[in-house]
Amino acid sequence: MEKKRLKKLAEDPRFIQSIYNYCDRWCERCPFTARCLNFALGEEEFDQLEDQDLNNEEFWKKLSETLHVTLELLEEAAEEHGIDLNSMDMEESAEEERLNDELARDHQCSRAAKLYIEMVDDWLDSARYIFSPEEEERSTAEPLDEKDSASSEGDNSLVEPVEVVGWYQHLIYVKLMRAIRGELLEEPEILDEYPKDSDGSAKVALIGIDRSIAAWGEIRNLFPHRSNQILDILVHLEQLRRTVEKTFPHARAFIRPGFDKIDLNS
Ligand code: SF4
Repeated sequence: MEKKRLKKLAEDPRFIQSIYNYCDRWCERCPFTARCLNFALGEEEFDQLEDQDLNNEEFWKKLSETLHVTLELLEEAAEEHGIDLNSMDMEESAEEERLNDELARDHQCSRAAKLYIEMVDDWLDSARYIFSPEEEERSTAEPLDEKDSASSEGDNSLVEPVEVVGWYQHLIYVKLMRAIRGELLEEPEILDEYPKDSDGSAKVALIGIDRSIAAWGEIRNLFPHRSNQILDILVHLEQLRRTVEKTFPHARAFIRPGFDKIDLNS
């Protein structure tokens, strides 16, 4: 895409500025695709290509073109704002990044989110017969429970909650890591009155947790005889939700561009 075209698109008022910074990237389910520059760029650049294979040569060629245009725009913007793109102390910054990563990974929220990923994997593994009963014949592991079979046969109601669980399973961890890392870098005395990126990321994680709790609730209703394992997951998620809310007390109030409305009474 040409630089001119990209600039024109970025200035188009139909797009909500920075909406894609605090979304869950689930474009298929997003009610704002028509107002998202990120989505429009993806559509324009890639979706017209017949072959959607990520290894497609054309795909990477297009991506590389976008990189060049983006770098040109970045250089222009840096010059305009007096930013020296060469001034970073790479060694110091890499070391700082490594330390922040370590601290973020060790934070109780990220540890709990990581454990949640494993719990979901375990559950999906133990319930794989529900999704593909033919697997049962090939395996000597736990046989397909009659009730599982009855619950899943011709029943699409499992598809959506499992899809929701799958979408947020890793995203919660990723967003929490970003929130924790961000908080380590933000300087509270300077940024206190401004919305914090860490709160925005924590809010996306919280929304993922809320939706996952709801989805697990639906799965539990479909498989009441498997409710103990699901209850463990629900308890873990609820504890994680409360801990995230305590760690990021302003996250829920963060206004995500496009998705949240500003409360004029507050
Ligand atoms: S705002 Fe919506 S359309 Fe844009 S990247 Fe996020 S999920 Fe996709």
